[in-house]
Parts: sequence; C-alpha cells; structure tokens
Amino acid sequence: MTAPRIDTDTLRRLPKAVLHDHLDGGLRPATVVELADAVGHTLPTTDPDALAAWYFEAANSGDLVRYIATFEHTLAVMQSREGLLRTAEEYVLDLAADGVVYGEVRYAPELLVNGGLALPEVVETVQEGLAAGMAKAAAAGTPVRVGTLLCGMRMFDRVREAADLAVAFRDAGVVGFDIAGAEDGFPPADHLAAFEHLRGESVPFTIHAGEAHGLPSIHQALQVCGAQRIGHGVRITDDIVDGKLGRLAGWVRDRRIALEMCPTSNLQTGAATSIAEHPITELKDLGFRVTLNTDNRLVSGTTMTREMSLLVQEAGWTVEDLRTVTVNALKSAFIPFDEREALIEDVVLPGYAAAL
Ligand SMILES: [Zn+2]
Repeated sequence: MTAPRIDTDTLRRLPKAVLHDHLDGGLRPATVVELADAVGHTLPTTDPDALAAWYFEAANSGDLVRYIATFEHTLAVMQSREGLLRTAEEYVLDLAADGVVYGEVRYAPELLVNGGLALPEVVETVQEGLAAGMAKAAAAGTPVRVGTLLCGMRMFDRVREAADLAVAFRDAGVVGFDIAGAEDGFPPADHLAAFEHLRGESVPFTIHAGEAHGLPSIHQALQVCGAQRIGHGVRITDDIVDGKLGRLAGWVRDRRIALEMCPTSNLQTGAATSIAEHPITELKDLGFRVTLNTDNRLVSGTTMTREMSLLVQEAGWTVEDLRTVTVNALKSAFIPFDEREALIEDVVLPGYAAAL
C-alpha cells in the first residue's frame, strides 16, 4: 500500500528541530542586497531572486571548497553591529515561519571581525539579535528556542580562541561548539587542544566530519577528539556492508551519536548522489540516530519544510519518519535535558499527533 502524499502546508506546520544550520549561510537574499548596498559591497547581481538563483548555481559545483567560497558575499554584509543584529533576528523569524520549534545556529566569530568588532562583541551582538527574533516569534504565536554553537575555522589558527568564547558565553545563549571549513586536509585532531579544553570545561561539541573525507575523519572526531555529535557523517556508510555494521558504525549507532544530515547540501558538494539514495534513509532504517538539517538555507536554496518534502516525495518517508528525526534531534540537542524533554512532550509529539 502506498502512503498518502503529505501536502506542503501540512509539512510546514509540523514541529521541527534543526541542529545544523549556519547563520552566514541562511540570509534572506533581499537582506544581502540591502546590506551590501549600505556597505558598498559588490554582489554578482542586485536582484534578490537572481541572487538566490546565483547562490544555488554556484553551490551546485559538486565541490565542498567551492561551495564554501560562496559565503564571501554573506560574510561581507555581516561585519557591522547593524548587519549582525538584522541577520540574527531574521534568522529566528525564518526558522519560526518554517515550523521550527528548536534550532541550533552556528557561525564562526573570527569571520565577523573585519568591521572592527571584537570577538566578544560579535557574540554579544548575535545573541541580542537572536533574542529579539525569539521575542517577536513568541509574540506572533510561533515560539522557537534557538541555541548557539560557536565555530572555529579548521584551516586557521583561531580555533582555541573560539573555544574560549564558547566557555565564556555558555550561560549567555551559547550551548556548544563546532569546527567548520574545508574538511579535506584539516583533520579534527589538528585542534585536539581546543577539544580537550572544552571537555575539561564540560562544553559539548559536534564536529563536521565524514562529508568530504571518510571514516578516518569520523573516527578522529569521535575517538580522539570526543565529539558528542557528527556534522554530516554520510561517509559512515563506508563502514556498513550489506547492512552489517563495522566497529565504528556500530559505535555511532549503539552509543546513539547523532548524525546531523543535510541532504540537499550533500548533493551540492558531491557527498551524495540523489535524495532517493542519500544515506539518511538507510541509516534511519538501520536504527542510527539520524537528524534532518538544512546546513545553509540561502546557499542551498532550502528550508526544513523543503528537506522534509524531498524525503517524502523521493525517498518514501512517512510522517512517522519525520517525527522520528525530529525527536532524535531534540534528544541530542545541546540544551539541558529537562528543556529537551519538555519540547518533545509538550510541543513535538502533540504537533505530530494532530497531523496524523
Ligand atoms: Zn555545515
């Protein structure tokens, strides 16, 4: 029997949780155009629709390094207090409009200091913008809780500074840490001292691994650095043959390590070949703690609703599957257990029950 198709309006209303979404990859095209004009930054085009299309095309190169290069234009308009406040507030409102009830936003403070803001000022300003967005979303009847992950750029030498910021702002909205940037050639263990510092301070972290590089990257992230979650992790399938799990894949599944999977982004960087064959479906069926994420909404031209819709239409996902990955995300979120449990029991499960 074929399950009935779920329409987009129903998908949009479903409560969602996103663990992997970059602040600087999710700006509104019109905002990029307006802010670029204000600071005199030249864009490929000043038409918002054409700019959105340009991003999607440029990001479709099949190469992680070129994908990351598209961030030049969003970062250029985020160097001022005004730019950060606006993009952070809009970030929250866009998540709320997408039906997201819990989100973790991530960004690298070190990439936002070209306008003269000091690293702590960057973090304070983003938190101010996020708080304004959360207040507006709540007032509009679409409350969303957003926690922040600070990133260090793995190819530069400021990862420890970013880790110190995560420790300093842990009671001011920062809930965890990550390293971002080109994975190939920059293994997680290069930054072992920063991760050991975070572990010593009991600050949770995730690591982008198993996207452009394979099992050794995932192994290092988990077994050397001690990550609690993995960003992407699609290549864990290299350790699964005919449904049989190798040692590392078994560790990931059995220890309930969340995989922050981002289907559209993976197609664009060449980490996966199609939505139908994306490993998220096989891993879900094998009992891994998979979560569904957008990665970069502007750059990948996507939303959580769109990612869900693609899996429903092209990979046979049901509403129950969508509920599973949403609950998975909350189980592995970096906010306190009681808050996660309340979101699951009071918001997510009733929301899905209403839709089923
Ligand atoms: Zn990412």
